[in-house]
Amino acid sequence: PMFYEFKPEETVKAAHGTTLRCKTWEAEAALRMLENNLDPAVSLVYDELIVYGGAGRAARNWKEYQTIVKTLKELEADETMLVQSGKAVGVLKTWAHAPRVLIANSNIVPAWSTQEYFDELDRMGLMMYGQMTAGSWIYIATQGILQGTYETFAAMADQHFGGSLRGTITVTAGLGGMSGAQPLAVTMNDGVCLVVEPIDERVKQKVREGYVDEQARDLAHALELCEQAKATGTPLSVGLTGNAATVLPELLERGFQADIVTDQTSAHDLMDYLPEGEIGKVLALRAANPEEFKKQALQSIVKHVEAILEMQRRGTIAVDYGNNLRGQAEKGGLQVRDEHGQFLYPGFVPGYIRPLFCEGKGPFRWCALSGDPQDILRIDRALLETFPENKMLARWIEKAQAKVPFIGLPARVCWLGYGERERFGLVINDLVARGEVSAPIVIGRDHLDCGSVASPNRETEGMKDGSDAVADWPLLNALANCASGADWVSLHNGGGVGIGNSTHSGMVIVATGTPEKAERLKRVLTTDPGMGIFRHADAGYELAQDVARERGAKIPGQQ
Ligand code: NAD
Repeated sequence: PMFYEFKPEETVKAAHGTTLRCKTWEAEAALRMLENNLDPAVSLVYDELIVYGGAGRAARNWKEYQTIVKTLKELEADETMLVQSGKAVGVLKTWAHAPRVLIANSNIVPAWSTQEYFDELDRMGLMMYGQMTAGSWIYIATQGILQGTYETFAAMADQHFGGSLRGTITVTAGLGGMSGAQPLAVTMNDGVCLVVEPIDERVKQKVREGYVDEQARDLAHALELCEQAKATGTPLSVGLTGNAATVLPELLERGFQADIVTDQTSAHDLMDYLPEGEIGKVLALRAANPEEFKKQALQSIVKHVEAILEMQRRGTIAVDYGNNLRGQAEKGGLQVRDEHGQFLYPGFVPGYIRPLFCEGKGPFRWCALSGDPQDILRIDRALLETFPENKMLARWIEKAQAKVPFIGLPARVCWLGYGERERFGLVINDLVARGEVSAPIVIGRDHLDCGSVASPNRETEGMKDGSDAVADWPLLNALANCASGADWVSLHNGGGVGIGNSTHSGMVIVATGTPEKAERLKRVLTTDPGMGIFRHADAGYELAQDVARERGAKIPGQQ
């Protein structure tokens, strides 16, 4: 009930155009991005301020949301608003070139940092779960994850299937905020995807949004559609209403052989993984008896992972998609590691993404504050002109333009590396200065980036030097971005894989077109991916060491 008090009468949606309600474009940008996160077209559960990823919130409740909005509107050009777990708690006099907003979400002293203790603090009204970009106001709907998922499937296609997923079937689950990107990422790589989701309305929604091609009547129908598409080499995604813990064992029973199996249900939080059973009863149980619900969720997760492992034994390529499904199954008593302590099937980062991290690459993104899609299309053109040699990028932009609907403020994401981000940030600032786009452009990234996250079951799984759980890196990343002139900087706990399992930081800077902003863009967009170079070079990755040498990232002691 506390969520509903002070709920704005008018539904929240990002303002468009060039009229400022705040005293600076930077504060206005933070306000629009907060509003954009909550926009019902963007957010998962609007009434409860949940943006994506289980219970990832944009503000602690509606009352605190209203206070944040008011504070941003009154914020002077040399002031900084402090946000503690979705609540504005202070305004500081700083500098015009200092961040306008500093955010800390869901952080708990390490020895107390468990889901259970967090839930208690949450109930006491002292905290909220910020996920990654929910509480740091740089979520751009499913497109954000679509690019990362597209990159991952492209890397899998390269490693295992000669460069394309054509004629292969991927089985996965979850059609929520992030997980909903999977079917489209597979078909963009020309493959076939079967995706299982217990909430029928979510399947229908993804079909409406163009992320899923077709909804199957039942499993037999789903398999018929998939097998046919596989045989003819036609890209196709099929949504099936059902539970992964039920459907995957059924696939095994039928002797069905998938080429790839993965999963992106909200397994990081047992309250968000739906156990097997009739969906109405399952949801009622969650409300009535959370402890029993969590027990059943864990049992279903164990069954689900057992099926993934059996598929792997039969020759399917299994990969964990960063939701801590393996970790939860382990909690539930399942053996998920080999005798060396390595997971029996790899996470997507050590499996496919780490080499990109070593070049400072990661999910770089921008968003048009004007609300005008033309601004994004103009920047798309500039992107292709700036990096004409990058064929992968050209393919992504072409497919994104054709297939990715703009949801909320128009945005674009692409993976750029050390040197490239700085270069392109300046191109964007120039477009703003010359009036070729109609308002300033927000530039940011996911917390899942090369140098901004410590997450032993995901981004930093299996680091070469054993530094998986060293969390100094994301802390340094946040400090470095503050020192370099970012516009809002955040530090979170528990994104992706759940409370206590990760520390990560976010960065946003607004290209306003001024020469002063160009200076700051240069620094921030070098500093930020530079942290990825430092982090991976320090861990002994030669590729990162080479990139540092070639592109001039200074590492003390390195020749
Ligand atoms: P979400 O809560 O929006 O959606 C998850 C979906 O899974 C829901 O629609 C839910 O109904 C469905 N689901 C739950 N239990 C299921 C089951 N047993 N079988 C089938 N479907 C089930 O969350 P999201 O934003 O889609 O994120 C999903 C997970 O992915 C989270 O754990 C998140 O932390 C993680 N994540 C990973 C990455 C990455 O880069 N790999 C990025 C962001 C989030």
